[in-house]
Amino acid sequence: VIEIRDLHKSYGDLDVLKGVSVTAGRGEVLSLIGSSGSGKSTLLRCANLLEHSQSGEILFQGEPIKWKGTGANRHPSDRKQVTRIRTNLSMVFQQFNLWSHMTILENVMEAPITVLNRDPAEVEASARSYLDKVGIGDKCDVYPAQLSGGQQQRAAIARGLCMEPKALLFDEPTSALDPELEQEVVRVIQDLAREGRTMMIVTHDMRMAADVSDQVVFLHQGLIEEQGSPNELFGAPKSERLQQFLQATL
Ligand code: ATP
Ligand code: MG
Repeated sequence: VIEIRDLHKSYGDLDVLKGVSVTAGRGEVLSLIGSSGSGKSTLLRCANLLEHSQSGEILFQGEPIKWKGTGANRHPSDRKQVTRIRTNLSMVFQQFNLWSHMTILENVMEAPITVLNRDPAEVEASARSYLDKVGIGDKCDVYPAQLSGGQQQRAAIARGLCMEPKALLFDEPTSALDPELEQEVVRVIQDLAREGRTMMIVTHDMRMAADVSDQVVFLHQGLIEEQGSPNELFGAPKSERLQQFLQATL
């Protein structure tokens, strides 16, 4: 579904991604791990076209992003393509980014109606069912401030699902949460993985990564240091840097 080939991204003099290639096939869960500053969020933001990479290719469902310009001036050239791809990739951030002046139900319904022009009654029915699915069907009519962090993050996931995306991108979805609340969100992600949803997940939660991933990618200073199945990476890490990283996170 998402294929990234030899991606390079820098901010001024700082080379953040130095030629990264990853592929998340249909139904596949890919986790990105690595220390702070290794480029994980940048890779996710480039995949979602929130950031513009300087070189390399990004393909979505086999369709290559069309670019114009080169180097620091490179931008996607086809606005419609960008919109189509973005609406098909739901991004869930560390901070839940819910609208505080809208109820939970309104938050979940907003984008499908305004971006996709879908029928409000249909959207409401599916929003309610996604809120049920993430276990907060009883919170439709309250405002975000009245929910716990774990509930807010689950609402943000329901909002992403309500766009009926082809893939979900998560950037540290549990790291702003207390450990007890973290588990609620991990459980939702486990369910989504079991359903065969395509996901790319940046996480510091090695247990979740081991549990839900088909593929784990360890980034180090903008390059893939090691990549493989959870058993390979967590059970028998080859690279010394990965061994050190895992030791430090245990
Ligand atoms: P963390 O685990 O702390 O979230 P990360 O692996 O997600 O780290 P990135 O956020 O991708 O790391 O950042 C990689 C590098 O790029 C860092 O050195 C960061 O300071 C730099 N960087 C990120 N965004 C910008 C920006 N908008 N402008 C300049 N530098 C940036
Ligand atoms: Mg990050």
